[in-house]
Amino acid sequence: MSQPSLFNFDNSYARLPERFYSETSINPVKTPSFVAVNRDLATSLNIDPDRLEHEGLEYLAGNRFPDNSKPLSQAYCGHQFGHLVPQLGDGRALLLGEQLNAQQQRFDIQLKGSGPTLFSRSGDGRSALGPVVREYLVSEAMHALGISTTRALAAVVTGEDVYRESLVPGGILTRVAKSHVRIGTFQYFAIRHDQEAVKILADYCIERHYPSLKHACKQEQRSGGKIYQDFFAAVTKVQIELVVDWMSVGFIHGVMNTDNTSIAGETIDYGPCAFMNTYNPLTVYSYIDSHGRYAYGNQKSILRWNLARFAECLLPLFGEDIDKNIAYSELQLEKFEDQFWKSWLDKFRHKLGLFDAEKEEDTNLIGDLLKLMQAHAMDFTLSFRDLANLINQEENTKTFHNTWQKPDLGRWLDKWRLRTTKQALPADQLRKRMNAVNPFVIPRNHHVQQAVDEAENEQDFSLMHKLNRLYSTPFQVSGDYSDFHLPPKAGEDITNTFCGT
Ligand code: AMP
Ligand code: MG
Repeated sequence: MSQPSLFNFDNSYARLPERFYSETSINPVKTPSFVAVNRDLATSLNIDPDRLEHEGLEYLAGNRFPDNSKPLSQAYCGHQFGHLVPQLGDGRALLLGEQLNAQQQRFDIQLKGSGPTLFSRSGDGRSALGPVVREYLVSEAMHALGISTTRALAAVVTGEDVYRESLVPGGILTRVAKSHVRIGTFQYFAIRHDQEAVKILADYCIERHYPSLKHACKQEQRSGGKIYQDFFAAVTKVQIELVVDWMSVGFIHGVMNTDNTSIAGETIDYGPCAFMNTYNPLTVYSYIDSHGRYAYGNQKSILRWNLARFAECLLPLFGEDIDKNIAYSELQLEKFEDQFWKSWLDKFRHKLGLFDAEKEEDTNLIGDLLKLMQAHAMDFTLSFRDLANLINQEENTKTFHNTWQKPDLGRWLDKWRLRTTKQALPADQLRKRMNAVNPFVIPRNHHVQQAVDEAENEQDFSLMHKLNRLYSTPFQVSGDYSDFHLPPKAGEDITNTFCGT
């Protein structure tokens, strides 16, 4: 009896009209080999990890397409740094297929770096190995931190060089996503005045990502556009939660363009992203972001701006009366501010160990701590992690920051301790809950860059694998961390991160 297919594909995007994508042909690479295979992720996708390691290489190198694959590259456009680029699309990626797991959940299996497509413009359709290593490490770390993200099923080194500033080894990442539909996918059709396609795409996303909206919406309301308003509200909600999650761990995406804003609410496109060390809302890592458009503290405003672009695409679907639709969108975007701050406050209250009902003083308590962290140039991650060791005054010996002894921080701690005692939580329980939301280790940019450099320059993947292991349990203190939880020492800091496509 022949073996079943390695993948259980059902390709719903390929059933959309042809103008949504272009079919993609094979662009084989010379001598591919696996750098990493994510066995746990394979298992959760109902892909046999042993077979994936033994038979999967040709598929994940893009050298052969699985029988049930319908490889395609998706059309999209987007605002990049505020400027509309009418045609982007998957210029170096192809969707191998949509995998159904044992629970019939659907995931895109996409190869990134697999060669030129109809959308490549002047690009070579390839990826350098370095960015593949970066995305593999950081996306998997984000998942372990409990943050919605695309994931990495495998990384392949192609055996071919690609030309960037110099010749560097090529790589291919197998990316797993709830889908790859972005705000930019809607914009692609909206700017072409293809309303039919916008509606098809909205219906597709509702079916795939927000099916409960269909049940919550009566048929007569549907024709009035309510379901599309609900769809917009649902995407707004998941995106707010996502960006608040980023901010809670000091993550800076770096290229929050509309084509990198996922309709399913996942973190997508790990380019010049990084985690902040010292707390400062102006922090930027991306070397192309010279004006700090996508700085840590700007991420809320940028999300709102991106959602306004999304609303523009959906406007005609909201109902017949265009004035009413505009008023509706404006109202939603006003509500955005409240929604965002509520979500932010919840998240940061938890980081401070406040799990009871909100009290008026809480906002100031958080704001004051952030100001002090900035004034004393304290590390964002370790400062929050410290708090669990500072619950009782006599316990403050195990902290990372000597700074806590300073009078202004001492006064803040007194206020905070008083506030925590207003909730009936014993100190050991409080400590446990705080340590479950304040990570001990995050992917520090200088470590990630070192792993990237060793992979790219020496084809040495040992640090990548080591970091990948450490980042898989970010809330636990294990014996194996050595200095990997610590911020860079003087001269070790990497402040510029390259997009590295
Ligand atoms: P990104 O910066 O990854 O969001 O990509 C922006 C756009 O540039 C997308 O349309 C990509 O497909 C395209 N792109 C990036 N790198 C390449 C490349 N090496 N070859 C072709 N297209 C690329
Ligand atoms: Mg992108």
